[in-house]
Amino acid sequence: MQHKTVAELSRELTEKKISSVELTQFFLERIKHFDSTLNSFITVSEDYALTAAKDADAKRAQGKASPLTGIPIAHKDIFCTDGVKTTCGSKMLDNFIAPYNATVIQNLNDAGTVMLGKTNMDEFAMGSSNETSYYGPVKNPWQSDYVSGGSSGGSAASVAALLAPASTGTDTGGSIRQPAALCGITGLKPTYGRASRYGMIAFASSLDQAGLFAHTAEDVALLLNAMAGFDEKDSTSVNHPVPDYTAALNNNLKGLRIGLPKEYFNAGLNNEVAQTIQTAIREYEKLGAVIEEISLPNTALSVPVYYVIAPAECSSNLARYDGVRYGYRCVNPADLQDLYERSRSEGFGTEVKRRIMIGTYVLSAGYYDAYYLKAQKIRRLICNDFVNAFKKVDVILSPTTPTPAFKIGEKTSDPISMYLSDIYTIAANLAGLPGISIPVGFVNQLPIGMQLITNLFGEAKLLNVAHQYQTVTDWHKQSPRGF
Ligand code: GLN
Repeated sequence: MQHKTVAELSRELTEKKISSVELTQFFLERIKHFDSTLNSFITVSEDYALTAAKDADAKRAQGKASPLTGIPIAHKDIFCTDGVKTTCGSKMLDNFIAPYNATVIQNLNDAGTVMLGKTNMDEFAMGSSNETSYYGPVKNPWQSDYVSGGSSGGSAASVAALLAPASTGTDTGGSIRQPAALCGITGLKPTYGRASRYGMIAFASSLDQAGLFAHTAEDVALLLNAMAGFDEKDSTSVNHPVPDYTAALNNNLKGLRIGLPKEYFNAGLNNEVAQTIQTAIREYEKLGAVIEEISLPNTALSVPVYYVIAPAECSSNLARYDGVRYGYRCVNPADLQDLYERSRSEGFGTEVKRRIMIGTYVLSAGYYDAYYLKAQKIRRLICNDFVNAFKKVDVILSPTTPTPAFKIGEKTSDPISMYLSDIYTIAANLAGLPGISIPVGFVNQLPIGMQLITNLFGEAKLLNVAHQYQTVTDWHKQSPRGF
């Protein structure tokens, strides 16, 4: 049962081979059994899940079901969930219970999905390894002394370990695609503005985007149908029609132009990862795609630009955690200044503080032009690289990460080397483009991900290109031993 995809589970529910309550209980049992070592959940919402599952069964009995009615799902703990704790991986919000649902959660609830719980993540989504979480690192299900990736490490690991058939995540610089790659599953970051950010705790508002994890592109398509859409509560969500993302999955790829950015296949890329990607490229050739080399000349600037813009926005967004309104408050403050200082210094972890410091610095009066404004100008150049590339090709293909998963603790004292693990993913966020990572093989028994990027609102095309690969390969069907 745990190996079934969302599409298969949906059929089982329709054919009444299983009820949503049974399915939900089954996954709750698996979480109980396996998650004490994996650490992929911060909160398991058993009562909430069973109530939702009963409702789903009742809807199915009345003939009011959608394809997702009764499907269990896990949500990244960055999305506000009415009545269920939302921590964002931080001590700052360890006691926070939102009085409303994020729009993404509401949309998926309305489609009938059943929330199993809230998944572990890097604190305020800042990290690439899930090691900055106040709740401890998430283990990689393939090898437990390796990282799951981040920041949506819990969402990726829970799906890879078959504790949930699918999950939500967010991606500011790679936080869906990178952990999807390191855990061997499929992860989609949609176009900026495709899904609402309302009720999704803000890290860097011009980059943050909600997305999905599942085993297959087909499952992601099913879920994106429910999740995407305009929301008047988010002024940056875009009023662009939501197609049926499952409709184009079976289009053939004859003549599809795939570009390989030469800057992504350079010295920084691990050799065995490069070979694995080459094998995947040959599959696309067999499917009829035309491969050509392209150039994204400003690639080397994307990490430095990101680490000006993202911290700038985070320092502004995180100013709201002041110990007064909600979240952590220090004990016995001497005065108001002491309340602010101690609540923030005790409530935030090291990485979050580092980002707030950098962000405050680059936004300060004397440095704004030199850093922040300059970074915004280079961001435009990076966007233009993609505009030029998409005049020549339909899809850009690359590795998702330069190496397989690294060991827990290996990069914690070297933030720059940690930041470089997002070298291939960050540019899509700076340009607002949709990107997907799909599993394409293993190196040293650790999964490898391939990234596909396309033009704005091209999710249907991306899912089609990913799905076609998954019809001729079975990397997405592999599961880690012991689960
Ligand atoms: N790893 C990147 C960072 O630390 C991206 C995080 C994300 O996408 N949320 O900021």
